[in-house]
Amino acid sequence: MELFRPLMSKKIDLHIHTNYSDGTYTPEDVVRVSKDAGLSAIAITDHDTTEGIVPALKHAAKVGIEVIPGIELSCEYNEVEIHILGYYINWENNWFQEKLKVFQKARERRAFHILNKLRNVGVDIDEQMLFSQASVGAISRVHFARCLVEMGEAETMADAFQKYLVEGRPAFVKKLRILPEEALSMINRVGGVAVLAHPIFGGGHKLFMKRLKRLGLAGVEVYHPSHNTQLSEKYLNMSSELGLIATGGTDSHGGKEEENPIGSIEVDYELVDGLKNAKNHSEIKNRIILIH
Ligand code: AMP
Ligand code: MN
Ligand code: MN
Ligand code: MN
Repeated sequence: MELFRPLMSKKIDLHIHTNYSDGTYTPEDVVRVSKDAGLSAIAITDHDTTEGIVPALKHAAKVGIEVIPGIELSCEYNEVEIHILGYYINWENNWFQEKLKVFQKARERRAFHILNKLRNVGVDIDEQMLFSQASVGAISRVHFARCLVEMGEAETMADAFQKYLVEGRPAFVKKLRILPEEALSMINRVGGVAVLAHPIFGGGHKLFMKRLKRLGLAGVEVYHPSHNTQLSEKYLNMSSELGLIATGGTDSHGGKEEENPIGSIEVDYELVDGLKNAKNHSEIKNRIILIH
């Protein structure tokens, strides 16, 4: 995506998955590929797990790139799935990890439900093959889609989703529902900066964002491969009108079926400054709350 940025500015990618959730790259691979792509800073934003953060930080210290700890949480509002990113979370917090375990347990139960539903339509996925890709608590529909392609039941990942895994298809099972306010409060409680992910897929309305801001939202993912230039501009305007920061990233899931390679959209380092300001701002606010 061309986004009228000055040449020579430092580039970043604030939305990347590792193989601890539904990405294919290890955290070390993510760091190496990001460095090779010439990025200055990246964020690890796995679904419902923070396991990829420490290995990425360790490797980043060796190769010299800034890694921001993050997470991506799924929630639902009026039947629409909405994703919220959390940056600079204190991922070691026990309460936070216990909350994530609830989501991971739910993923595990859902995976067995999906396996059964696939068996009912004559598709028998080998459990070993499924769970060799990721720990059971991180299992996502992406892992099912990869198996379905491997088995020849679908031509592509998108085909596997359309044939079996999306709502209305035979193996669709809903995820655990949490409300956006629960995700926002989880992220804020551990000092994180909460950002609405890819608003095009859900939540991209001004009134809704305004409501989320009152509940602890700090920013909007303005730059994403699913946003064309006009959409990015629209979300940039909305965010600035609402006093929300802008972020951006590729939502890269790594490896071979990859459509959005790491660093494949132009995002400027100044957005990291915005994130850091938001983090400092929330710390000051929390201190004031503690004093009163
Ligand atoms: P889950 O969290 O198990 O519901 O899986 C959702 C994940 O599947 C998202 O994070 C995307 O990585 C991926 N995904 C969702 N819809 C599609 C689709 N139509 N085609 C390919 N990947 C998809
Ligand atoms: Mn994903
Ligand atoms: Mn998402
Ligand atoms: Mn994502």
